[in-house]
Amino acid sequence: MTKDNVELICNIGELSDLFREKSDVRGFLQKVVKTVSGHMKADVCSIYLYDEYLDRLILEATEGLNPELIGKLILGTGEGLVGTAMKELRSILEKNGQENPKFKAIPGSLEEQYQAFLAVPILSGLTRIGVLVLQHHLPGYFNKNDMMAFKAIASQLAATLENAKLLMGVSQKKEAPRKQEDVSLIKGQAVVEGIGIGKAYVMEAGRSKNLFTGLPESCLNAGEEDFVKALSQTEEQLQELQTEMEEQLSDVGSLIFSTHLLMLRDSSFIGKMEEDIKAGVSPCNAIITRVEYFMKVFSESDNPRLQEKVQDIRDLGHRLLRNLSGEEQDSGDYSGQVLVARELLPSELVKITAQHVEGLVLFSQGASAHITILAKSLGVPLVYTDDKRLFSISSGTFLIIDGFQGNLLINPGEDTLTQYRSLKKDRQLILDQENLIQEETRTLDGERVYLRATINLISDIKMAVRMKSEGIGLYRSEFPFLIRNSFPSEDEQYLVYKKIFDGMDHPLITLRALDIGGDKILSYVPDSEEENPFLGLRAIRFLLENKKIFVGQLKAMLRAGEGRKFRIMFPLISSLDDFRQAKRMVDKSIEFLKRDGMDCGPVPELGVMIELPSAVMMVEDLAKEADFMSVGSNDLVQYLLGVDRTNEKVSGLYDPRHPAVLRTIARIAEASRKENCTLSICGNMAFNKEMVYFLLGTGITNLSMPPVQIPAIQRFINAVDVEKARSDSKKLLAMNSLEEIHAFIDKAVNGIEI
Ligand code: PEP
Ligand code: MG
Repeated sequence: MTKDNVELICNIGELSDLFREKSDVRGFLQKVVKTVSGHMKADVCSIYLYDEYLDRLILEATEGLNPELIGKLILGTGEGLVGTAMKELRSILEKNGQENPKFKAIPGSLEEQYQAFLAVPILSGLTRIGVLVLQHHLPGYFNKNDMMAFKAIASQLAATLENAKLLMGVSQKKEAPRKQEDVSLIKGQAVVEGIGIGKAYVMEAGRSKNLFTGLPESCLNAGEEDFVKALSQTEEQLQELQTEMEEQLSDVGSLIFSTHLLMLRDSSFIGKMEEDIKAGVSPCNAIITRVEYFMKVFSESDNPRLQEKVQDIRDLGHRLLRNLSGEEQDSGDYSGQVLVARELLPSELVKITAQHVEGLVLFSQGASAHITILAKSLGVPLVYTDDKRLFSISSGTFLIIDGFQGNLLINPGEDTLTQYRSLKKDRQLILDQENLIQEETRTLDGERVYLRATINLISDIKMAVRMKSEGIGLYRSEFPFLIRNSFPSEDEQYLVYKKIFDGMDHPLITLRALDIGGDKILSYVPDSEEENPFLGLRAIRFLLENKKIFVGQLKAMLRAGEGRKFRIMFPLISSLDDFRQAKRMVDKSIEFLKRDGMDCGPVPELGVMIELPSAVMMVEDLAKEADFMSVGSNDLVQYLLGVDRTNEKVSGLYDPRHPAVLRTIARIAEASRKENCTLSICGNMAFNKEMVYFLLGTGITNLSMPPVQIPAIQRFINAVDVEKARSDSKKLLAMNSLEEIHAFIDKAVNGIEI
């Protein structure tokens, strides 16, 4: 027998293909079992979904068993082999399932003819989704390799099946339109540079309010035929978007539009709209009623995962209505619109940006570092504001978002609009600096400096290559985790890391182990709310508490880096013991890979991030044991000065030029020199000219920064006389007042002719 290998089964494209075919959620599940049984050359493939309220497994799709049992065959956890696989969260492989004492015969299932049995629990992170089962008439037909492949299929399918499961469990009301106050300018904080011009798209708090205001006549008057056209247009656009996302943002974008596509096939959603239209309701009202109903049901659900789907439904409604309006050149997406929101999830940000939104205005309290970082990587202009008048803006109001000054202009005049349009064009010219970048960076007096890239998304690598970055100084591995509804599987992570290695052919590639916690909270980790998350279960602490996840990530990195030179670094190290434990996990991961006959190279270079005062106090010892050290300057300043890096109220106290910070950096640099341990700087300090001047003066020559910052920092370094920087750094280290230090650095840097 020849069964397809894991590579083929893991191919995400095939799952997407299943969306391309028309069917409702159950129809989709049926296609999944058909496809999987085809690949595995099995007589039977079944999906049982787990209902957590009933604590029961329900047969939802089968290829091979009696189809009449679908929706009717219900098993308790622990009941039969399938229930046991769910209860004990383990795979069950039996030459002849019927010989296992736990086997339970189901009358009328036609199961008696099948002997070989393989069941794999489907988990999305820590959430139980269900059980995937294969059966075959020949005893011993499935082997261990099949089990591995089947597990890979289960993990690949987990997120999609979870969506399907949520949508299957669902089965009305409108709210008053908002009142608009008379404001023309709202001031805020410039977060991501750029200009966005367009109509407001307001996403309200509670995520369940009426948002369909200001619809054009063409939409209000559309007929049944327009509805049918809008439906197929929507489907086509979403398929296209999904393909685009998979090509460009494969790390954070895979199957990201799956809820949209599944809803589009759902009889209780589209089917009900069609029924209403047949009964004489206008298509526009039919869409709005149904979308609002689902938004309400989802937002009132106790299940946080279902609450997260509210934006997906709103998004789909938005697209359907834009397509229904049938306006020429309307792509149905967010082109020509500025999003105004109280808060935004990372996955929502990715989806909305992928749909070409002009810019984003967010209420500061709903802001977070990962939204900032993600928006920077996605290049979408972003302004934060704590001005509550933001909530008086209605959808459809004309806006300009100025991501340079941090302003939001409401209903601007014609002159202002012309000015901003030309500013927007100028922005396009900035990247013309590209051909001026040199391969190597040197100071005025010839000292070699290495400018590496900080990568958040795989798509940043292209820019890093264009900006001639010398490797990757920091890959923040958390985005594929933040964007999903559950932990990405080892195979999914492997594909992401592989793309990093494929995207940059350089011996210095630094992958950072998962840094979650703080303000990067994974919604799917239970009990993740903490009083002081920055002092809580963050980064290496989380990983050492969740070793399965740690090992899964390390294995994925080691597999992807096989045959390549690369480095792994651990965030928020506070002691030698932390580092030693992390190293042991790397050894264990290699051991596991070898045991499973997987390819992986030798132990890569392992490094520590110096971000905590405790790590600074131990830096000499850490330098002796680590292959390299990297200062996470954002956190180092936060923890050293006791100033929350995300709290606007204390942003004035967050000062990297504080004498304590300068002296700390000097101590770290000294330890790295003495122990011959490579040192680099990442975080914002690495592209702050004043700090770069000081860093060069202390002998630090490895800097990691967002690729777009490279040209300006290179030009600055080219003009620095490092001898002078050295003597100035010594003087700075002797100073004890912030005021004195600021005045001194400003004068020195302003005197440099670039
Ligand atoms: C830092 O702390 O400077 C750093 C690079 O890590 P992050 O910003 O991801 O915490
Ligand atoms: Mg950090």
